[in-house]
Amino acid sequence: AVEIRALRKSFSGVEVLKGISLTARQGDIVAIIGGSGSGKSTLLRCINLLEKPSAGEIAIQGEPYQLRPDKDGALVPVDRRQIQRIRAHLGMVFQSFNLWPHRTVLGNVIEVPVHVLKMPREAAIARARTLLERVGLGDKLDVYPSFLSGGQQQRAAIARVLAVDPLAMLFDEPTSALDPELVGEVLSVIRDLAAEHRTMLLVTHEMAFARDVATHVVFLRDGIIEEQGSPAQIFESPQSENLKQFIRSVA
Ligand code: ATP
Ligand code: MG
Repeated sequence: AVEIRALRKSFSGVEVLKGISLTARQGDIVAIIGGSGSGKSTLLRCINLLEKPSAGEIAIQGEPYQLRPDKDGALVPVDRRQIQRIRAHLGMVFQSFNLWPHRTVLGNVIEVPVHVLKMPREAAIARARTLLERVGLGDKLDVYPSFLSGGQQQRAAIARVLAVDPLAMLFDEPTSALDPELVGEVLSVIRDLAAEHRTMLLVTHEMAFARDVATHVVFLRDGIIEEQGSPAQIFESPQSENLKQFIRSVA
């Protein structure tokens, strides 16, 4: 589970997350929707401490991050190793693929298992092969990322995350940089993972997809959760004017 309590985040005195509390239990697929600048990416980035929160608590699988305020009012790790240990099991998939360009597809997938998790290399390779086959890249192991389509790169990025056996997967608009004809292949891999009851937090502009795979939908507006509920509640009977308007605008 991912538990977030009263999370706040400011950038140079401007508060962009204003007290977010949210729990994703094992197997929950939480879709985070909202307009540009509402704080969706910042929220995901705080969950794996790519951004330092200003206040609040985050616990992964029942273990709270041990944080203390620094002189600038940001929360920083008390013990770096604790954060590294937890973060090694949080997979994030970004809009812009972020594969290591100088490593092959296989090299990308085994990097963290071998060098951070200290998995034996042969075992990591065997597992990577299985995962890459699963995302349809079984014939691309020795290829460098720049020779892949965007959809293939994103599927490799998903395999890379799966290789650490993630406690939770964080997706930040995984399809929004893709050509339209490549969106489906990436969504279908994510849909497949959803069926496995993995915990996922997914920022997406694909409303039909969110409605289809999410167990819970959160509408963020201006750094707060303005409305949340089941996909049916959010998409079929939105309550707030802002959510109604947002749904109309993306329909
Ligand atoms: P989008 O849909 O465009 O990706 P978003 O909901 O992901 O938007 P965020 O990227 O989380 O929004 O940004 C929320 C607010 O925080 C915005 O006003 C943004 O300008 C600001 N912000 C984000 N990152 C930084 C940063 N590193 N420094 C300063 N301000 C930032
Ligand atoms: Mg964003």
